[in-house]
Amino acid sequence: MIDGERRTSADGSFRTIDPASNTTLAEVAKGTPQDVNDAVSSSRDALRVWRRTKPVERARILDGISKAVLAHSEELARLESLDTGKPLTQARADVTVAARYFEYYAGLADKLVGLSIPLGDDFLDYTLREPIGVSAQIVAWNYPMQIGCRGIAPALASGSTVVVKPASEAPLSILRLAELALDAGLPRGVMNVVTGPGATVGMGLASHPGINQITFTGSVDVGAVVMGAAAKNCVPVVLELGGKSPNVVFADADLDLASPIIAKAILQNAGQTCSAGSRLLVQHEIADELLERVEKLLSSATIAPGLEDPDIGPLISKRQLDLVQGHVDQAKRDGVEIITGGSESAEASERYGGFFYSPTLALAKPDAAIVREEVFGPVLAATTFADEDEAIGFANATDYGLVAGVWTKDIVRAHTVAREIESGQVYINGYGAGGGVELPFGGYKKSGFGREKSLEGIGSYLQTKNVCVRLT
Ligand code: NAD
Repeated sequence: MIDGERRTSADGSFRTIDPASNTTLAEVAKGTPQDVNDAVSSSRDALRVWRRTKPVERARILDGISKAVLAHSEELARLESLDTGKPLTQARADVTVAARYFEYYAGLADKLVGLSIPLGDDFLDYTLREPIGVSAQIVAWNYPMQIGCRGIAPALASGSTVVVKPASEAPLSILRLAELALDAGLPRGVMNVVTGPGATVGMGLASHPGINQITFTGSVDVGAVVMGAAAKNCVPVVLELGGKSPNVVFADADLDLASPIIAKAILQNAGQTCSAGSRLLVQHEIADELLERVEKLLSSATIAPGLEDPDIGPLISKRQLDLVQGHVDQAKRDGVEIITGGSESAEASERYGGFFYSPTLALAKPDAAIVREEVFGPVLAATTFADEDEAIGFANATDYGLVAGVWTKDIVRAHTVAREIESGQVYINGYGAGGGVELPFGGYKKSGFGREKSLEGIGSYLQTKNVCVRLT
Protein backbone atom coordinates (compact mmCIF):
# COMPACT_ATOMS: atom_id res chain seq x y z
CA MET A 1 0.00 0.00 0.00
CA ILE A 2 2.11 2.85 -1.33
CA ASP A 3 0.98 6.43 -1.80
CA GLY A 4 -2.63 5.50 -1.21
CA GLU A 5 -2.75 2.59 -3.62
CA ARG A 6 -2.59 -1.16 -3.37
CA ARG A 7 0.11 -2.56 -5.60
CA THR A 8 1.48 -5.82 -6.80
CA SER A 9 5.22 -6.39 -6.67
CA ALA A 10 7.72 -7.04 -9.45
CA ASP A 11 8.92 -9.93 -7.28
CA GLY A 12 5.53 -11.63 -7.09
CA SER A 13 3.89 -12.65 -3.85
CA PHE A 14 4.14 -14.84 -0.77
CA ARG A 15 1.46 -16.75 1.09
CA THR A 16 0.18 -15.92 4.52
CA ILE A 17 -1.32 -18.98 6.14
CA ASP A 18 -4.00 -19.78 8.69
CA PRO A 19 -1.91 -21.41 11.44
CA ALA A 20 -4.92 -23.36 12.72
CA SER A 21 -5.29 -25.32 9.48
CA ASN A 22 -1.99 -24.72 7.62
CA THR A 23 -3.94 -23.50 4.59
CA THR A 24 -3.37 -20.37 2.52
CA LEU A 25 -5.29 -17.29 3.60
CA ALA A 26 -4.00 -14.81 1.05
CA GLU A 27 -1.27 -13.97 -1.43
CA VAL A 28 0.59 -10.86 -0.34
CA ALA A 29 2.97 -8.69 -2.40
CA LYS A 30 6.62 -9.57 -1.87
CA GLY A 31 8.01 -6.06 -1.74
CA THR A 32 11.26 -5.14 -3.50
CA PRO A 33 13.95 -2.54 -2.76
CA GLN A 34 12.23 -0.35 -5.37
CA ASP A 35 8.95 -0.61 -3.44
CA VAL A 36 10.81 0.50 -0.28
CA ASN A 37 12.28 3.46 -2.18
CA ASP A 38 8.85 4.42 -3.50
CA ALA A 39 7.28 4.16 -0.03
CA VAL A 40 9.99 6.25 1.61
CA SER A 41 9.80 8.93 -1.05
CA SER A 42 5.99 8.97 -0.78
CA SER A 43 6.27 9.40 3.01
CA ARG A 44 8.86 12.19 2.54
CA ASP A 45 6.53 14.03 0.17
CA ALA A 46 3.57 13.56 2.51
CA LEU A 47 5.65 14.86 5.44
CA ARG A 48 5.81 18.32 3.87
CA VAL A 49 2.03 18.59 4.09
CA TRP A 50 1.30 16.52 7.21
CA ARG A 51 3.73 18.34 9.49
CA ARG A 52 2.04 21.64 8.51
CA THR A 53 -1.49 20.30 8.92
CA LYS A 54 -3.04 22.07 11.90
CA PRO A 55 -2.66 19.97 15.05
CA VAL A 56 -6.41 20.02 15.63
CA GLU A 57 -6.95 18.69 12.09
CA ARG A 58 -4.44 15.90 12.71
CA ALA A 59 -6.27 15.14 15.95
CA ARG A 60 -9.61 14.90 14.13
CA ILE A 61 -8.22 12.58 11.48
CA LEU A 62 -6.66 10.32 14.13
CA ASP A 63 -9.92 10.28 16.02
CA GLY A 64 -11.65 9.36 12.75
CA ILE A 65 -9.25 6.42 12.31
CA SER A 66 -10.07 5.28 15.85
CA LYS A 67 -13.79 5.37 15.05
CA ALA A 68 -13.25 3.58 11.72
CA VAL A 69 -11.34 0.80 13.50
CA LEU A 70 -14.17 0.43 16.02
CA ALA A 71 -16.79 0.47 13.25
CA HIS A 72 -14.92 -2.42 11.57
CA SER A 73 -13.90 -4.12 14.79
CA GLU A 74 -15.53 -7.48 14.08
CA GLU A 75 -14.04 -7.68 10.58
CA LEU A 76 -10.58 -6.72 11.88
CA ALA A 77 -10.81 -9.11 14.85
CA ARG A 78 -11.73 -12.06 12.61
CA LEU A 79 -8.92 -11.19 10.21
CA GLU A 80 -6.43 -10.94 13.09
CA SER A 81 -7.69 -14.18 14.61
CA LEU A 82 -7.36 -16.02 11.28
CA ASP A 83 -3.92 -14.62 10.43
CA THR A 84 -2.32 -15.05 13.88
CA GLY A 85 -4.38 -17.96 15.27
CA LYS A 86 -5.32 -16.04 18.42
CA PRO A 87 -8.69 -16.63 20.14
CA LEU A 88 -11.43 -14.30 18.92
CA THR A 89 -11.95 -12.72 22.35
CA GLN A 90 -8.27 -11.78 22.40
CA ALA A 91 -8.40 -10.45 18.84
CA ARG A 92 -11.43 -8.33 19.73
CA ALA A 93 -9.56 -6.92 22.73
CA ASP A 94 -6.56 -6.18 20.49
CA VAL A 95 -8.71 -4.23 18.04
CA THR A 96 -10.26 -2.21 20.87
CA VAL A 97 -6.79 -1.35 22.14
CA ALA A 98 -5.65 -0.47 18.60
CA ALA A 99 -8.54 2.02 18.31
CA ARG A 100 -7.68 3.39 21.73
CA TYR A 101 -4.12 4.25 20.58
CA PHE A 102 -5.56 6.54 17.90
CA GLU A 103 -8.03 8.03 20.36
CA TYR A 104 -5.35 8.60 23.01
CA TYR A 105 -2.77 10.19 20.69
CA ALA A 106 -5.46 12.21 18.88
CA GLY A 107 -5.95 13.88 22.24
CA LEU A 108 -2.25 14.73 22.42
CA ALA A 109 -1.76 16.12 18.90
CA ASP A 110 -2.72 19.68 19.87
CA LYS A 111 -1.05 19.65 23.29
CA LEU A 112 2.59 19.27 22.28
CA VAL A 113 3.57 22.51 23.95
CA GLY A 114 7.11 23.84 24.27
CA LEU A 115 8.76 25.93 26.97
CA SER A 116 9.53 29.58 27.41
CA ILE A 117 12.90 29.79 29.15
CA PRO A 118 13.73 32.91 31.19
CA LEU A 119 17.13 34.41 30.38
CA GLY A 120 16.53 37.97 31.62
CA ASP A 121 15.62 41.09 29.64
CA ASP A 122 18.20 40.57 26.87
CA PHE A 123 16.68 37.45 25.33
CA LEU A 124 13.44 35.73 24.43
CA ASP A 125 13.94 31.96 24.42
CA TYR A 126 11.46 29.25 23.57
CA THR A 127 11.35 25.64 22.39
CA LEU A 128 9.46 24.05 19.52
CA ARG A 129 8.57 20.36 19.49
CA GLU A 130 8.87 19.31 15.88
CA PRO A 131 8.09 15.99 14.21
CA ILE A 132 11.06 13.67 13.76
CA GLY A 133 10.25 13.07 10.08
CA VAL A 134 9.71 9.69 8.42
CA SER A 135 9.45 6.82 10.90
CA ALA A 136 10.14 3.21 9.88
CA GLN A 137 7.90 0.84 11.83
CA ILE A 138 8.95 -2.82 11.79
CA VAL A 139 6.26 -4.95 13.40
CA ALA A 140 6.26 -8.47 14.93
CA TRP A 141 3.60 -11.07 14.05
CA ASN A 142 2.14 -11.74 17.47
CA TYR A 143 -0.02 -8.58 17.94
CA PRO A 144 0.02 -6.84 14.54
CA MET A 145 -2.87 -4.45 15.25
CA GLN A 146 -1.75 -3.53 18.76
CA ILE A 147 1.95 -3.22 18.02
CA GLY A 148 1.34 -1.46 14.71
CA CYS A 149 -1.03 1.14 16.17
CA ARG A 150 1.16 1.59 19.26
CA GLY A 151 3.83 3.12 17.01
CA ILE A 152 1.78 4.52 14.11
CA ALA A 153 -0.65 6.60 16.22
CA PRO A 154 1.91 8.67 18.19
CA ALA A 155 4.07 9.11 15.08
CA LEU A 156 1.13 10.54 13.13
CA ALA A 157 0.02 12.69 16.08
CA SER A 158 3.49 14.27 16.19
CA GLY A 159 3.25 15.29 12.52
CA SER A 160 5.64 12.54 11.39
CA THR A 161 4.79 10.09 8.60
CA VAL A 162 5.37 6.32 8.61
CA VAL A 163 6.42 3.42 6.45
CA VAL A 164 5.22 0.21 8.09
CA LYS A 165 6.76 -3.22 7.49
CA PRO A 166 4.41 -5.88 8.89
CA ALA A 167 5.67 -9.36 9.74
CA SER A 168 5.23 -11.81 6.85
CA GLU A 169 3.45 -14.30 9.12
CA ALA A 170 0.55 -11.90 9.78
CA PRO A 171 0.38 -8.83 7.51
CA LEU A 172 -3.35 -8.65 6.74
CA SER A 173 -4.79 -6.47 9.51
CA ILE A 174 -2.23 -3.68 9.01
CA LEU A 175 -2.99 -3.60 5.27
CA ARG A 176 -6.69 -3.26 6.08
CA LEU A 177 -5.91 -0.57 8.67
CA ALA A 178 -4.10 1.44 5.98
CA GLU A 179 -7.24 1.36 3.81
CA LEU A 180 -9.46 2.40 6.72
CA ALA A 181 -7.07 5.25 7.56
CA LEU A 182 -7.33 6.56 3.97
CA ASP A 183 -11.11 6.35 4.13
CA ALA A 184 -10.98 8.29 7.41
CA GLY A 185 -9.21 11.16 5.67
CA LEU A 186 -5.52 10.42 6.25
CA PRO A 187 -3.74 11.98 3.26
CA ARG A 188 -2.09 9.44 0.97
CA GLY A 189 1.56 8.77 1.72
CA VAL A 190 1.26 9.61 5.43
CA MET A 191 1.03 5.88 6.15
CA ASN A 192 2.67 3.56 3.64
CA VAL A 193 2.88 -0.20 4.12
CA VAL A 194 5.42 -2.47 2.43
CA THR A 195 5.04 -6.21 2.91
CA GLY A 196 7.80 -8.72 2.21
CA PRO A 197 10.82 -10.45 3.68
CA GLY A 198 12.66 -9.02 6.68
CA ALA A 199 16.05 -9.35 5.03
CA THR A 200 15.08 -7.21 2.01
CA VAL A 201 12.09 -5.03 2.94
CA GLY A 202 12.86 -4.76 6.70
CA MET A 203 16.57 -4.19 6.22
CA GLY A 204 16.00 -2.02 3.12
CA LEU A 205 13.78 0.23 5.22
CA ALA A 206 15.98 0.25 8.34
CA SER A 207 19.07 1.20 6.32
CA HIS A 208 17.33 3.67 4.00
CA PRO A 209 18.91 7.14 4.07
CA GLY A 210 15.45 8.72 3.67
CA ILE A 211 14.13 7.68 7.09
CA ASN A 212 14.66 9.61 10.33
CA GLN A 213 13.72 7.12 13.04
CA ILE A 214 13.07 3.39 13.52
CA THR A 215 10.67 1.61 15.86
CA PHE A 216 11.39 -2.11 15.85
CA THR A 217 9.44 -4.84 17.63
CA GLY A 218 10.84 -8.33 17.43
CA SER A 219 13.69 -10.55 18.50
CA VAL A 220 16.93 -9.48 20.17
CA ASP A 221 19.07 -10.76 17.29
CA VAL A 222 17.21 -8.89 14.55
CA GLY A 223 16.89 -5.84 16.82
CA ALA A 224 20.67 -5.69 17.13
CA VAL A 225 21.05 -5.87 13.32
CA VAL A 226 18.45 -3.10 12.88
CA MET A 227 20.33 -1.00 15.44
CA GLY A 228 23.49 -1.45 13.37
CA ALA A 229 21.68 -0.14 10.30
CA ALA A 230 20.37 2.81 12.33
CA ALA A 231 23.89 3.55 13.52
CA LYS A 232 25.18 3.85 9.95
CA ASN A 233 22.59 6.58 9.19
CA CYS A 234 22.79 8.04 12.73
CA VAL A 235 19.05 7.76 13.33
CA PRO A 236 17.45 6.98 16.69
CA VAL A 237 15.81 3.63 17.27
CA VAL A 238 13.26 2.27 19.72
CA LEU A 239 13.73 -1.44 20.36
CA GLU A 240 10.91 -3.49 21.86
CA LEU A 241 12.38 -6.96 22.19
CA GLY A 242 11.73 -10.14 24.10
CA GLY A 243 11.04 -11.00 27.71
CA LYS A 244 11.11 -13.66 30.41
CA SER A 245 8.80 -11.96 32.82
CA PRO A 246 8.25 -13.37 36.33
CA ASN A 247 5.25 -13.57 38.60
CA VAL A 248 6.77 -13.52 42.12
CA VAL A 249 4.38 -15.06 44.63
CA PHE A 250 4.99 -14.76 48.39
CA ALA A 251 3.45 -17.08 50.97
CA ASP A 252 0.92 -14.44 52.11
CA ALA A 253 -0.49 -13.90 48.59
CA ASP A 254 -4.19 -14.31 47.79
CA LEU A 255 -3.99 -17.47 45.69
CA ASP A 256 -7.66 -17.30 44.64
CA LEU A 257 -6.85 -13.99 42.98
CA ALA A 258 -3.37 -14.89 41.74
CA SER A 259 -3.86 -18.36 40.22
CA PRO A 260 -6.16 -17.51 37.27
CA ILE A 261 -4.19 -14.37 36.45
CA ILE A 262 -0.91 -16.32 36.47
CA ALA A 263 -2.45 -18.96 34.17
CA LYS A 264 -3.84 -16.32 31.81
CA ALA A 265 -0.46 -14.57 31.65
CA ILE A 266 1.01 -17.63 29.92
CA LEU A 267 -2.09 -18.84 28.02
CA GLN A 268 -2.76 -15.49 26.36
CA ASN A 269 -1.87 -15.67 22.66
CA ALA A 270 -0.47 -19.19 23.35
CA GLY A 271 2.42 -17.62 25.25
CA GLN A 272 3.58 -15.77 22.13
CA THR A 273 3.56 -12.46 23.95
CA CYS A 274 6.66 -10.37 24.66
CA SER A 275 5.27 -9.63 28.12
CA ALA A 276 4.02 -13.19 28.80
CA GLY A 277 4.30 -14.17 32.46
CA SER A 278 6.56 -17.07 31.52
CA ARG A 279 8.27 -17.52 34.89
CA LEU A 280 6.60 -18.36 38.18
CA LEU A 281 8.71 -17.72 41.28
CA VAL A 282 6.91 -19.12 44.30
CA GLN A 283 7.84 -19.18 47.99
CA HIS A 284 8.55 -22.72 49.31
CA GLU A 285 5.65 -22.79 51.82
CA ILE A 286 2.92 -22.42 49.16
CA ALA A 287 4.66 -24.00 46.17
CA ASP A 288 2.70 -27.27 46.19
CA GLU A 289 -0.65 -25.54 46.51
CA LEU A 290 -0.03 -22.90 43.85
CA LEU A 291 1.51 -25.34 41.36
CA GLU A 292 -1.48 -27.64 41.78
CA ARG A 293 -3.91 -24.78 41.11
CA VAL A 294 -2.00 -23.53 38.06
CA GLU A 295 -1.57 -27.07 36.73
CA LYS A 296 -5.36 -27.56 36.85
CA LEU A 297 -5.97 -24.31 34.97
CA LEU A 298 -3.40 -25.08 32.28
CA SER A 299 -4.38 -28.69 31.72
CA SER A 300 -8.09 -27.81 31.46
CA ALA A 301 -7.55 -25.00 28.91
CA THR A 302 -9.53 -25.50 25.69
CA ILE A 303 -7.45 -25.77 22.50
CA ALA A 304 -8.94 -24.98 19.06
CA PRO A 305 -8.69 -22.55 16.11
CA GLY A 306 -8.92 -18.90 17.12
CA LEU A 307 -12.33 -18.38 15.47
CA GLU A 308 -13.82 -21.03 17.80
CA ASP A 309 -12.69 -18.78 20.66
CA PRO A 310 -10.87 -21.33 22.82
CA ASP A 311 -8.53 -20.54 25.74
CA ILE A 312 -5.58 -21.18 23.47
CA GLY A 313 -5.18 -21.24 19.69
CA PRO A 314 -2.36 -22.56 17.50
CA LEU A 315 1.22 -21.34 17.44
CA ILE A 316 2.01 -19.08 14.49
CA SER A 317 3.94 -21.65 12.41
CA LYS A 318 5.56 -25.06 12.25
CA ARG A 319 8.87 -23.30 12.84
CA GLN A 320 7.56 -21.82 16.10
CA LEU A 321 6.19 -25.20 17.15
CA ASP A 322 9.62 -26.77 16.58
CA LEU A 323 11.34 -23.94 18.48
CA VAL A 324 9.05 -24.41 21.48
CA GLN A 325 9.52 -28.19 21.42
CA GLY A 326 13.29 -27.67 21.23
CA HIS A 327 13.24 -25.63 24.46
CA VAL A 328 11.10 -28.24 26.22
CA ASP A 329 13.28 -31.13 25.01
CA GLN A 330 16.35 -29.32 26.35
CA ALA A 331 14.54 -28.85 29.67
CA LYS A 332 13.84 -32.59 29.82
CA ARG A 333 17.53 -33.31 29.17
CA ASP A 334 18.37 -30.82 31.96
CA GLY A 335 16.31 -32.90 34.41
CA VAL A 336 13.46 -30.38 34.66
CA GLU A 337 10.18 -31.85 35.95
CA ILE A 338 7.33 -31.42 33.44
CA ILE A 339 4.19 -31.19 35.59
CA THR A 340 1.77 -30.93 32.68
CA GLY A 341 2.01 -30.62 28.88
CA GLY A 342 5.46 -30.87 27.35
CA SER A 343 4.45 -31.74 23.79
CA GLU A 344 2.45 -30.78 20.75
CA SER A 345 -1.29 -31.13 21.23
CA ALA A 346 -1.45 -34.00 18.75
CA GLU A 347 -5.22 -34.26 19.01
CA ALA A 348 -5.81 -30.63 17.98
CA SER A 349 -3.05 -30.61 15.35
CA GLU A 350 -4.46 -33.73 13.70
CA ARG A 351 -8.03 -32.55 13.92
CA TYR A 352 -7.47 -29.06 12.48
CA GLY A 353 -4.20 -29.49 10.55
CA GLY A 354 -2.33 -26.65 12.31
CA PHE A 355 0.33 -26.12 14.98
CA PHE A 356 -1.13 -26.61 18.45
CA TYR A 357 0.94 -26.97 21.62
CA SER A 358 -0.30 -28.17 25.01
CA PRO A 359 -0.04 -25.65 27.85
CA THR A 360 3.04 -26.70 29.81
CA LEU A 361 4.12 -26.25 33.42
CA ALA A 362 7.71 -27.14 34.34
CA LEU A 363 9.39 -27.09 37.74
CA ALA A 364 13.06 -26.24 37.41
CA LYS A 365 16.16 -25.07 39.25
CA PRO A 366 16.73 -21.31 38.86
CA ASP A 367 19.73 -21.76 36.57
CA ALA A 368 17.97 -24.06 34.04
CA ALA A 369 17.77 -22.73 30.47
CA ILE A 370 13.95 -23.01 30.51
CA VAL A 371 13.89 -20.50 33.39
CA ARG A 372 16.19 -17.98 31.70
CA GLU A 373 15.51 -18.14 27.98
CA GLU A 374 12.47 -16.84 26.14
CA VAL A 375 10.41 -19.77 24.76
CA PHE A 376 7.61 -17.78 23.07
CA GLY A 377 5.05 -20.52 23.54
CA PRO A 378 2.65 -21.69 26.27
CA VAL A 379 5.41 -22.88 28.61
CA LEU A 380 5.50 -21.68 32.22
CA ALA A 381 8.76 -22.34 34.08
CA ALA A 382 8.33 -22.43 37.86
CA THR A 383 11.02 -22.22 40.49
CA THR A 384 10.86 -21.89 44.28
CA PHE A 385 12.51 -19.38 46.59
CA ALA A 386 13.12 -19.08 50.33
CA ASP A 387 12.91 -15.36 51.11
CA GLU A 388 12.65 -11.85 49.70
CA ASP A 389 16.35 -11.53 48.82
CA GLU A 390 16.34 -14.81 46.96
CA ALA A 391 13.13 -13.85 45.13
CA ILE A 392 14.68 -10.59 43.91
CA GLY A 393 17.89 -12.38 42.89
CA PHE A 394 15.98 -15.00 40.89
CA ALA A 395 13.68 -12.39 39.33
CA ASN A 396 16.69 -10.48 38.01
CA ALA A 397 18.64 -13.54 36.87
CA THR A 398 17.81 -13.25 33.16
CA ASP A 399 19.02 -11.05 30.31
CA TYR A 400 15.49 -9.65 29.99
CA GLY A 401 13.46 -7.10 31.96
CA LEU A 402 10.07 -6.24 30.48
CA VAL A 403 7.28 -6.89 33.02
CA ALA A 404 6.96 -8.44 36.49
CA GLY A 405 4.12 -9.31 38.88
CA VAL A 406 4.54 -9.24 42.67
CA TRP A 407 1.98 -11.01 44.80
CA THR A 408 1.86 -10.25 48.56
CA LYS A 409 -0.36 -8.57 51.15
CA ASP A 410 2.67 -6.90 52.78
CA ILE A 411 2.68 -3.34 51.45
CA VAL A 412 6.31 -2.63 52.39
CA ARG A 413 7.53 -5.83 50.74
CA ALA A 414 5.44 -5.12 47.62
CA HIS A 415 7.05 -1.73 47.06
CA THR A 416 10.54 -2.88 48.04
CA VAL A 417 10.46 -5.76 45.57
CA ALA A 418 8.95 -3.52 42.87
CA ARG A 419 11.86 -1.13 43.31
CA GLU A 420 14.50 -3.87 43.13
CA ILE A 421 13.18 -5.71 40.10
CA GLU A 422 14.92 -4.73 36.87
CA SER A 423 12.01 -4.37 34.47
CA GLY A 424 10.07 -1.69 32.62
CA GLN A 425 6.76 -2.42 34.35
CA VAL A 426 5.88 -3.99 37.72
CA TYR A 427 2.34 -4.97 38.69
CA ILE A 428 1.43 -5.54 42.34
CA ASN A 429 -1.26 -8.16 42.95
CA GLY A 430 -2.07 -8.18 39.26
CA TYR A 431 -0.52 -8.63 35.84
CA GLY A 432 -1.51 -6.06 33.24
CA ALA A 433 -4.15 -3.33 33.24
CA GLY A 434 -6.26 -3.77 30.12
CA GLY A 435 -4.35 -2.59 27.07
CA GLY A 436 -2.16 -0.33 29.19
CA VAL A 437 -2.23 2.37 26.49
CA GLU A 438 -1.69 5.09 29.12
CA LEU A 439 1.25 3.35 30.85
CA PRO A 440 4.90 3.64 29.77
CA PHE A 441 6.03 0.31 28.33
CA GLY A 442 9.49 -0.86 27.36
CA GLY A 443 12.46 -2.88 28.37
CA TYR A 444 15.35 -2.97 30.78
CA LYS A 445 18.42 -4.95 29.69
CA LYS A 446 17.94 -7.01 26.52
CA SER A 447 14.20 -6.36 26.45
CA GLY A 448 15.17 -3.18 24.63
CA PHE A 449 15.07 0.56 25.18
CA GLY A 450 12.88 3.55 24.55
CA ARG A 451 9.35 3.75 25.87
CA GLU A 452 6.14 3.27 23.93
CA LYS A 453 2.53 3.91 24.99
CA SER A 454 1.62 6.75 27.43
CA LEU A 455 2.71 10.38 27.22
CA GLU A 456 6.31 9.20 26.95
CA GLY A 457 5.60 7.23 23.78
CA ILE A 458 5.23 10.31 21.59
CA GLY A 459 8.69 11.53 22.59
CA SER A 460 10.30 9.12 20.10
CA TYR A 461 8.61 11.00 17.26
CA LEU A 462 9.49 14.54 18.35
CA GLN A 463 12.65 16.60 18.37
CA THR A 464 13.12 19.78 20.33
CA LYS A 465 14.32 22.96 18.70
CA ASN A 466 15.46 25.83 20.90
CA VAL A 467 14.92 29.32 19.46
CA CYS A 468 16.72 32.20 21.11
CA VAL A 469 16.02 35.82 20.18
CA ARG A 470 18.46 38.54 21.15
CA LEU A 471 16.39 41.55 22.22
CA THR A 472 19.05 44.14 22.99
P1 NAD B 1 11.74 -11.15 14.32
O1 NAD B 1 12.83 -10.36 14.94
O2 NAD B 1 12.08 -12.36 13.56
O3 NAD B 1 10.89 -10.23 13.31
C1 NAD B 1 10.37 -8.96 13.69
C2 NAD B 1 10.17 -8.13 12.44
O4 NAD B 1 11.46 -7.86 11.87
C3 NAD B 1 9.35 -8.80 11.34
O5 NAD B 1 8.56 -7.81 10.69
C4 NAD B 1 10.41 -9.33 10.41
O6 NAD B 1 9.96 -9.50 9.08
C5 NAD B 1 11.46 -8.22 10.50
N1 NAD B 1 12.82 -8.64 10.15
C6 NAD B 1 13.33 -9.90 10.11
N2 NAD B 1 14.62 -9.87 9.73
C7 NAD B 1 14.94 -8.57 9.53
C8 NAD B 1 16.13 -7.90 9.15
N3 NAD B 1 17.26 -8.54 8.89
N4 NAD B 1 16.10 -6.54 9.07
C9 NAD B 1 14.98 -5.85 9.34
N5 NAD B 1 13.82 -6.44 9.69
C10 NAD B 1 13.79 -7.78 9.80
O7 NAD B 1 10.76 -11.43 15.52
P2 NAD B 1 9.40 -12.26 15.49
O8 NAD B 1 9.73 -13.71 15.42
O9 NAD B 1 8.50 -11.70 14.46
O10 NAD B 1 8.79 -11.89 16.93
C11 NAD B 1 9.17 -12.59 18.07
C12 NAD B 1 10.04 -11.76 18.98
O11 NAD B 1 9.51 -10.43 19.12
C13 NAD B 1 10.08 -12.30 20.38
O12 NAD B 1 11.40 -12.27 20.87
C14 NAD B 1 9.20 -11.33 21.18
O13 NAD B 1 9.46 -11.30 22.52
C15 NAD B 1 9.45 -10.06 20.49
N6 NAD B 1 8.35 -9.13 20.71
C16 NAD B 1 8.53 -8.05 21.52
C17 NAD B 1 7.49 -7.17 21.79
C18 NAD B 1 7.67 -5.97 22.68
O14 NAD B 1 6.84 -5.08 22.64
N7 NAD B 1 8.70 -5.90 23.49
C19 NAD B 1 6.26 -7.39 21.20
C20 NAD B 1 6.09 -8.50 20.37
C21 NAD B 1 7.15 -9.36 20.13
